[in-house]
Amino acid sequence: MSDAFQELKRRLLEINDLGAANALLSWDQATYMPPGGGEARGRQMATLARLGHERFTDPALGKLLDELRAFEASQPYDSDDASLVRITRREYERATCVPVDLVSELNEHQAATYRAWTEARPANDFARVRPLLEKTLELSRRLAECFPHEHVADPLIEAADHGMKAETVRKLFVELRAKLVPIVKTITDRPAADDSFLRRQAAEADQLAFGRSVIERFGYDFERGRQDKTHHPFMTKFSLGDVRITTRVRDDDLTDALFSTMHEAGHALYEQGIDRRLEGTPLGGGTSAGVHESQSRTWENLVGRSREFWEFFHPRLQAAFPEQLGRVSLDALYRAVNKVQRSLIRTDADEVTYNLHVMLRFDLELELLEGKLAVKELPEAWHARYQADLGIRAPDDRDGVLQDVHWFGGRMGGNFQGYTLGNVMSAQFYQAALAAHPGIPGEIRQGRFATLHGWLKSQLYRHGSKFTAAEIVERATGKPLTIEPYVQYLKRKYGELYTL
Ligand code: ZN
Repeated sequence: MSDAFQELKRRLLEINDLGAANALLSWDQATYMPPGGGEARGRQMATLARLGHERFTDPALGKLLDELRAFEASQPYDSDDASLVRITRREYERATCVPVDLVSELNEHQAATYRAWTEARPANDFARVRPLLEKTLELSRRLAECFPHEHVADPLIEAADHGMKAETVRKLFVELRAKLVPIVKTITDRPAADDSFLRRQAAEADQLAFGRSVIERFGYDFERGRQDKTHHPFMTKFSLGDVRITTRVRDDDLTDALFSTMHEAGHALYEQGIDRRLEGTPLGGGTSAGVHESQSRTWENLVGRSREFWEFFHPRLQAAFPEQLGRVSLDALYRAVNKVQRSLIRTDADEVTYNLHVMLRFDLELELLEGKLAVKELPEAWHARYQADLGIRAPDDRDGVLQDVHWFGGRMGGNFQGYTLGNVMSAQFYQAALAAHPGIPGEIRQGRFATLHGWLKSQLYRHGSKFTAAEIVERATGKPLTIEPYVQYLKRKYGELYTL
């Protein structure tokens, strides 16, 4: 193997280590850091991020990539080595397209906007963040202008979901929305499922122990991970041998922590399943926001909200919480965890309405970037769209336009499509897994997940970022991305639940 290739790997490993150290600082900030550490921690993280960016955009790295063109061409496309050069070049070109001044302006603006949002949301004060958001929009357009594109949102979408374009996503979403709106209407015209028994008090330790027992069965490896508590649950990784998750526990909600645990464990199973040979390179992580989300949703919803899953876990949950659930039947529990309702908060939304929350945000992002909508009109546009799609209106901006952190994290565009792409992909992958192994539902009924986990590892996880989302969908399912399996899944499941 050539010296240039060895030198490339050496440099990438160093950059990877800077990123991993930064991720550890960030995890600590969200879990155990005392408040007094906040100020220095922000600076420390910025320092590491700057060092990583400087090393990654070093012209010497670009020169190595040039030297490696012949080497890359001599290797098969799907080999680890050719993939490493190809993906590193793609990311190098992305990183070097943006002028250094714009990068630092974006970072500073991001920190200021986030700080303002943490105060503006509880105060229901959109006016406070409005000028900042106008600046965000301007910076996001400038960022987009650094790249060749058809639509101004394309480069911003690319950053999270490489290979996806505004037009492709918009088309997919228009189709999906047309199917979802009538389903939501039919279901919500019926009497709602009773889930009041899930709101009973339950001790934190018991909830955590139950969640842990579930994800251990999924295959989450606690020898290569751990779970801690945070305000907002997330998954993070310091190496393929250390993939961590966090959760939050509400003592008056029996399943909130459980579903968030399954969700984050899904992200973590993906990362833990990556081939160890890809460790320390740009290939050693999940390939896109959409594919990542497809895995969290697979374990949280397709598995965790399935009837088979609850056939196994219903008696176990009852045994863990006899006072709260001793008299609740399997049927009642299954209906409760699949309750569909028109709601205001995306993160609390059920499977059927969730994508409507996502798509309206995606459309608003495009309208803002296209200049069809001004930031000052955003709160009202938000309310109008909730009325049209979900038939409800938030009483204020706190649960309206100020609801999600994404727009107050420094970029406008590319923030949301991954969630719905993930849902759509999850059903397509799952359908392919079932076609290969029709026994999977029967195994889930017995609390066994190894066949499903094994299929996902071999088809998706082990490849890390070697392939784009579109490539991985084709390779694993034999077809391009389509909404059909997802729509079929929702119709079958909710058709039965609500006798549609
Ligand atoms: Zn997620």
